[in-house]
Amino acid sequence: SDALGKGAPFMQYQDNYRSLVTSSYLMLQEVQRAIVNDEFTIHLQPKVRLHDASVVGFEALVRWQQADGSYIPPDMFIPLAEASGLISELDRQVMLKTLDAINVLKASGYALPVAFNAAVADLESPDYVDNVFSAMSDRKVDAQLLDIEITESSAMRDYETHEASLRRLISKGVSVSIDDFGTGYSSLAHVARLAATTLKIDRSFVQGLETSDSDRHVVEMVARLGRSFGYSVVAEGVETDAQRRMLLDAGCHIGQGYFYARPMPLQIAIEWLKDQEVAAK
Ligand code: C2E
Ligand code: MG
Ligand code: MG
Ligand code: MG
Repeated sequence: SDALGKGAPFMQYQDNYRSLVTSSYLMLQEVQRAIVNDEFTIHLQPKVRLHDASVVGFEALVRWQQADGSYIPPDMFIPLAEASGLISELDRQVMLKTLDAINVLKASGYALPVAFNAAVADLESPDYVDNVFSAMSDRKVDAQLLDIEITESSAMRDYETHEASLRRLISKGVSVSIDDFGTGYSSLAHVARLAATTLKIDRSFVQGLETSDSDRHVVEMVARLGRSFGYSVVAEGVETDAQRRMLLDAGCHIGQGYFYARPMPLQIAIEWLKDQEVAAK
């Protein structure tokens, strides 16, 4: 029983590892099936002006609802989809649903920009930008209403190659937001001439505003840096009124977070908008 006692933790580790591999494989099959069956949907989360809460746009976030009504969080399947190459098809479905949502919002009287998220594999595909442009013209979506979010770490991975694609999007009038900004490794030289219109300050810094001087300094620095280089600056993960006020003090004017609204289905977003001020362009 002594030997068993020593062996047990390792065996348990092996079992956990095996079940992890098995469950990832099953999850991957499920993702593939969900893509084929068009089961992914989007929820929209507003971006607002921090001084008066007027709405300036939305971000579309992928949602995967299960038969029992529960949702599997994107952080559980996006990395898997990225590692397996399924992400391009998933993101394409999300892009098309975002374009449709832009049109429905517009038809409801809300001509507001909506962002969707792109993975590094999307940009690596040589046809990506052309595919976005042709989907936009098929669906008659104005470039001014489209915003593509790409994480700082993705943008910086092989930046020289991605820069040309991002510039093509921007020159057509599409916004390009650098997501989770501050967590990647952009050099100051890069920040000065990023192919982007917007920097999105990562949620971790916003969450630390009230308790960490260093997080507050990062927020102030990104806001100042962004302004001086002509980017708009958006804070993500705003959860409290204190954070809202500190962001304004730091020079950041637009935010997104649970303090304003959770991501919600399109029809709920349209209902929600009826009680909101919409920012004049
Ligand atoms: P992200 O693009 O940085 O999106 C923001 C995440 O923060 C979302 O999580 C959103 O629901 C959450 N969030 C918003 N406000 C708050 C807040 O006040 N507090 C907290 N704690 N969280 C807040 P979500 O929807 O779980 O998405 C996670 C990540 O998955 C996204 O981070 C994005 O990187 C990725 N993702 C989501 N949809 C897509 C997609 O269609 N394609 C790709 N490639 N990635 C996606
Ligand atoms: Mg995002
Ligand atoms: Mg983000
Ligand atoms: Mg994030």
